[in-house]
Amino acid sequence: MDLYDRHTVELCRQSEESAKKIDLKDEADKEEAARAKAWAIKMMMYFETGERYLKKDKTIREWMDRDQKRDELYESAQPPEDIRCLICRNRVTPTFKELWTEHEKPDRVLFMFDCINKCLPRRAFFSDGEEWRRKPNLCTRCGTELEESSEDNGEKLITKTTCPVCQYTDVSEKDKESWYSSYDFQSRFNVKSPTLRKWVRQGIVKARTITIYGKGVHMQVYLIEDNKDFLPPKSMTESRGVTTRRDGKDWFTTEPWYRFVDPRIHLKDYRIMDHLRVVDEKEEEERK
Ligand SMILES: [Zn+2]
Ligand SMILES: [Zn+2]
Repeated sequence: MDLYDRHTVELCRQSEESAKKIDLKDEADKEEAARAKAWAIKMMMYFETGERYLKKDKTIREWMDRDQKRDELYESAQPPEDIRCLICRNRVTPTFKELWTEHEKPDRVLFMFDCINKCLPRRAFFSDGEEWRRKPNLCTRCGTELEESSEDNGEKLITKTTCPVCQYTDVSEKDKESWYSSYDFQSRFNVKSPTLRKWVRQGIVKARTITIYGKGVHMQVYLIEDNKDFLPPKSMTESRGVTTRRDGKDWFTTEPWYRFVDPRIHLKDYRIMDHLRVVDEKEEEERK
């Protein structure tokens, strides 16, 4: 059993125990359905991603040490110097870096470079000086390497693929409902970016890096179609507006979705729940 399996089993076991506890409570409150409902709404839900428990386990500690080493490597890595554009020979500047992990190979950091003239293709180098070679996406008509650019226009993610030789063009659009951003993970599941990065490394969730050409911006998106059965439709995790009356005035606030439903039931068909733990207010207090 590898680390990841152990991790998962441990998490599942804990969420099961916690679910049992809640079921008993539900049973006791059954006679007073109305009260139970009020309780469910009042109950504060916190998502946790397990780190706090896993600290107990020595193996997991080593695993966390490894993550810390990776963070340090990421922070300290320096880009190779004097890299030039292959098209116009200008010196290119590093724009962003990414941790690069490969099976049975030492971790490295990859630096992306941009040419001031926006020449394509871009170049990318590892911290040890090796140039990164992208798997080419070839034109099905003439075999030339396709050029791809993506743009997030605020509503849709538009990816345009063009062949520089035969003029083959393909445009694909994805609307905001079809993916979760890192911000969505944070705001809807309380999953912070180090955890999310870890999930990506472990293959729990699949990310796509979107390059917004011309802006030098790179971001990760998590398509629902790439993560079927793991991510729910976004409509299920939408926050809701609540009006409360206080001091003779109506106050409008937005509350996260899990204040209105039991997340374990609401998202029971989605594997993300295997990696989250729901803690009620009382339990949260006890653990402080
Ligand atoms: Zn150039
Ligand atoms: Zn072509």
